[in-house]
Amino acid sequence: VLEVSDLSVTFPSDDGPLPAVRQVSYKVRRGEALGIVGESGSGKSVTSMAIMGLLPRNAKVEGSARLLGREIIGLDDKRISEVRGQRIAMIFQDPLTSLNPVYTVGYQIAEAVHAHRKVSRKEALARALELLEIVGIPSPEQRLKQYPHELSGGMRQRVVIAIAMANDPDVIIADEPTTALDVTVQAQVLDALQRARRETGAALVLITHDLGVVAGQVDRVGVMYAGRIMEMGSVEEVFYRPRMPYALGLLGSLP
Ligand code: ATP
Ligand code: MG
Repeated sequence: VLEVSDLSVTFPSDDGPLPAVRQVSYKVRRGEALGIVGESGSGKSVTSMAIMGLLPRNAKVEGSARLLGREIIGLDDKRISEVRGQRIAMIFQDPLTSLNPVYTVGYQIAEAVHAHRKVSRKEALARALELLEIVGIPSPEQRLKQYPHELSGGMRQRVVIAIAMANDPDVIIADEPTTALDVTVQAQVLDALQRARRETGAALVLITHDLGVVAGQVDRVGVMYAGRIMEMGSVEEVFYRPRMPYALGLLGSLP
């Protein structure tokens, strides 16, 4: 469903152009989960921001990203924002960047449902409740009436996942979705992401610097280093039989 080929991103600087992403290529199929791991600064976030058209204008983006066969790199603002809203859902480390502080959780999910399916307000709200149940939020009925700041970090992140599901996306890109959370809450959020993937049939791209997070979550994993994908394979292959010395080094951090 998403095919990235030879994607490169360069930022201008006083010392000349700085390459942040170098010829990254990957494919994800419908319903598949792909992990992208790599140390801080290796280019994981810039890669997905380039796909989403979210980089500052001075960034030079080369290469291609095809969603359902259609090129999405270099689209004008209007068309890329359609892709962002409807086709690719992005989930960030801080759920508050995706939520509006002045509207209730129920309103925000129902709005997303309503924008996507032309259903009545009442049906949209009923679907919002259903989505909160799917992402496993405790006392979902109560949550509908609450504001984002009244929820815990893990619950907020699950609300963001519910909103993503409301849009019935083709791809969910989650960039460090659990980094700010403690371990038990991490598991709940990862579980919610997997449910979202199953429910919508979307492909999931799970980005993290923490190898422990992708183990058991993804079908394949790519290891990024200095802007490149150094290797790509099943979790088994990359974690336990790494071909590259770099991945071996990262494995030092694995339990
Ligand atoms: P982390 O695990 O810390 O999130 P990351 O792998 O997501 O790291 P990126 O945010 O993709 O790393 O950054 C890749 C490189 O691009 C870094 O060297 C960063 O300093 C640089 N970079 C990112 N955004 C910009 C920008 N707007 N202008 C200039 N350089 C940038
Ligand atoms: Mg990042």
